[in-house]
Amino acid sequence: MSFDAAALVNAATDGLRAYDPGHDLPALRQRFGAAIAELGSNENPLGPSPRALAAAQAALVEAHRYPDPKGDALKAALSQQLNVGRDRIALGNGSHELLMLLAQCFADAAHEVICSQYGFAVFMLAATASGARAVAVPALASDHPTAPLGHDLDAIAAAAGNDTRLIYLANPNNPTGSWFDDVALAAFLDRVPSHALVVVDEAYHEYADAPGLGTALRFAGQHPNLVVTRTFSKAYGLAGLRVGYAVAHPTVIAVLERLRESFNVNGVALAAAAVALGDREHLVRVRDFTLGERTWLAAELARRGYRTLPSQTNFLLLDLARNAAALERHLFERGVIVRPLGGYGLDHALRISIGSRAENLRLLEALP
Ligand SMILES: *Cc1c(COP(=O)(O)O)cnc(C)c1O
Repeated sequence: MSFDAAALVNAATDGLRAYDPGHDLPALRQRFGAAIAELGSNENPLGPSPRALAAAQAALVEAHRYPDPKGDALKAALSQQLNVGRDRIALGNGSHELLMLLAQCFADAAHEVICSQYGFAVFMLAATASGARAVAVPALASDHPTAPLGHDLDAIAAAAGNDTRLIYLANPNNPTGSWFDDVALAAFLDRVPSHALVVVDEAYHEYADAPGLGTALRFAGQHPNLVVTRTFSKAYGLAGLRVGYAVAHPTVIAVLERLRESFNVNGVALAAAAVALGDREHLVRVRDFTLGERTWLAAELARRGYRTLPSQTNFLLLDLARNAAALERHLFERGVIVRPLGGYGLDHALRISIGSRAENLRLLEALP
């Protein structure tokens, strides 16, 4: 008798595919050693605050204990820095977990979840897994003057209807690097009905310097349906420890708490994140380095005839205007790992993280 669990899955899960991790990085590290340039995952080449690492090491002594299920110390630090009450904060095993949890808690087959074409992939995954109808609103044109391939906020607001329960936006967005400013967000929030939660994913917030681009947190007071997510994976350099947070109305947080796994953020991660948050100097170092390198790398690529889209993140979207698979392969053969975007329907583009200067030079040298 043959057994295949794929025939047994529920309707929502039936629409999903397992995460494609891409290249086998541990094997590649062995093959290329120090000569590898890992520019595929938007990691921080400067790493975390040394003080955060020390705190993580110290916390390991408590590995036999369950972590604080409420994450009180980290919430207190966030509450102080963001000037929001602790009852407005939820912690996640990465912000990925919180993005999933939001759809799981608030949407089902009776609802619609909206995101943008080329929006962060987790949004579609969360929407589909919840059983809701997932709607991807067409992105702005690739020659749009300020946000090529970015979110079309007017079209998204127009698409929001009676059944819309969630809208996912990323600002700035991955993989496009595009963004919208606070004025545009304010107008958008005014148009969206309050039965639709608006999730603004600010994973790259710390790398933004565009005029008018602040934070959605400014609008939390006027719009109780607004949810802002952030992460310690990017500018704070703690991707391996998995910590993210959401800021939302206390009743939204209370709902998330019903389904959140009790010990979702481990003790090492809690300790490291709280200290990382307080190391302002390190964050400024990371930001200054990344923004300088972003400008330099975009210019060097342009000099070689490669077009990149404007970016407010720690990566550049390289628009090849033809299928990018051969270039990705060419770089891969030379130990330069970048992210192909066929899964996004962007066959002609590659996403290249800002690495260390040595890694960025390796990229430039490897280009045909
Ligand atoms: C990297 C990223 C995240 C962060 O994921 P974590 O689970 O916190 O590591 C969230 N949103 C976007 C758009 C990202 O690119």
